[in-house]
Amino acid sequence: VAENDRPVVGVIGAGFGGLRVAMALRRAPVEVVLVDRRNYHLFQPLLYQVATAGLAPGEIAYPVRASLRAQKNLQFRLAEVARIDLAERRLYTSTGAIPYDYLVVACGAETNYYGLASVARHAVGLKDLDEAVVIRNHVLRMFELGAQERDPETRRAMLTFVVVGGGPTGVESAGALSELTRLVQLRDFAELEPQDLRVVLLEATNQLLSGIPQPLQIATAETLWQKHVEVRFGATVTDFDGYKVTLRSGEVIPARTVIWAAGARAAQLARSLEGPKGSLGRLAVEPTLQLPGHPNVYVIGDAAYWEEEGEPLPMVAPAAIQQARCAADNIIRQVRGEPPKPFVYQSPGSLATIGRNAAVAEIGRFRFRGFLAWLVWLVVHLMRLVGFRNRLVVLIYWAWDYLFYDRAVRVIMPDARWPWTVPGDDRRPGAGPNSNTS
Ligand SMILES: Cc1cc2nc3c(=O)[nH]c(=O)nc-3n(C[C@H](O)[C@H](O)[C@H](O)COP(=O)(O)OP(=O)(O)OC[C@H]3O[C@@H](n4cnc5c(N)ncnc54)[C@H](O)[C@@H]3O)c2cc1C
Repeated sequence: VAENDRPVVGVIGAGFGGLRVAMALRRAPVEVVLVDRRNYHLFQPLLYQVATAGLAPGEIAYPVRASLRAQKNLQFRLAEVARIDLAERRLYTSTGAIPYDYLVVACGAETNYYGLASVARHAVGLKDLDEAVVIRNHVLRMFELGAQERDPETRRAMLTFVVVGGGPTGVESAGALSELTRLVQLRDFAELEPQDLRVVLLEATNQLLSGIPQPLQIATAETLWQKHVEVRFGATVTDFDGYKVTLRSGEVIPARTVIWAAGARAAQLARSLEGPKGSLGRLAVEPTLQLPGHPNVYVIGDAAYWEEEGEPLPMVAPAAIQQARCAADNIIRQVRGEPPKPFVYQSPGSLATIGRNAAVAEIGRFRFRGFLAWLVWLVVHLMRLVGFRNRLVVLIYWAWDYLFYDRAVRVIMPDARWPWTVPGDDRRPGAGPNSNTS
């Protein structure tokens, strides 16, 4: 209990769920302590545009303190939560302990490499800004090195960009990469031919965007092929050593770049917490979103496992946002001495873009694709971005890119994670993407 006798609500994570919980408690008779290891709220749906040089990092991230400046009952702590002590009701963080009366765990998810150590070491996930910037730097650098490479096979490997995972992130990344490489980069590289370039999308099952109806899945694959993305089904990756991707079938694809969009699992903090787990290490919650046996603890968003009609709730932003409202309401009810209410999910539908003028959408009874779906995607994403300045700047970038086939952020920043500075260096044994990070 805080000095003013108000109960303290600890919130872990300032992502889609945590930020909304904090905001929803602004008039409640509680003190909120919001903890995140980064000082910004990240709009993950547009991360792939940072990775493909369309947007700068600052445009999809917004400082947490600026979002919550006017909120009097809130403190923000920039810290890593290392451990939650449920019995003591205390968070142990990199900057000290934080006692709480109520807790909301909204620590999200992390990339799942399914135990493939070599892939984890050499591929890059797409979960945070630093990874998106690493991908951007690397793709742009591969063009520079590829243009100087005399051996055609090595050049082609340098200019082969492999995306693993046919979910929304993989589809969007592959579409955007193809457009960056063919429509934008190629215009500036007279040394290169279209046949030097490859964008390959590898999917282990036989479908893309598994949550949407089959006709839209087929349309997605067709559109990607039209955009020169090689879509490969039944392609399970077993290894990537920085030079070649190996598939379960034994096939080898020479490539220097692998973007790993093949899976997520609950963040380490959630996985380390005791209690029943659903798939992907997510914490199983009561219908009220409370942690079983701990009525003062709520788990929401990607970290929470909750089933509706026998199906696990998808790891998407609307689920986290709706659960945030429910958790905040339930805490207010508990403070008033009322029982918490069960959560009810309302699916807003699915949207995925495949690049310029192309998207697929399922909203309620309506299924559509093409230009209209793409426009809906643009408006929805623009409106959901946090901060008016970000919305305005992103709109200007998009309009510019659309009209002039340009990408705003084609600068290669010095990048300590990558050892390659001159062509040939990368042939050192053991060298490769990320090899100096461990
Ligand atoms: C590339 C990509 C594209 C996506 N596209 C879409 C899309 O188009 N539409 C859609 O609906 N969803 C999309 N998603 C999914 C969506 O982003 C997530 O479902 C949503 O962010 C979940 O919200 P959350 O609050 O649970 O977690 P997050 O938003 O991930 O927030 C978790 C927060 O917790 C913090 N944190 C984690 N562990 C700790 C710790 N130990 N200590 C301190 N802080 C910690 C993190 O820094 C982070 O800020 C996408 C995800 C990715 C990665």
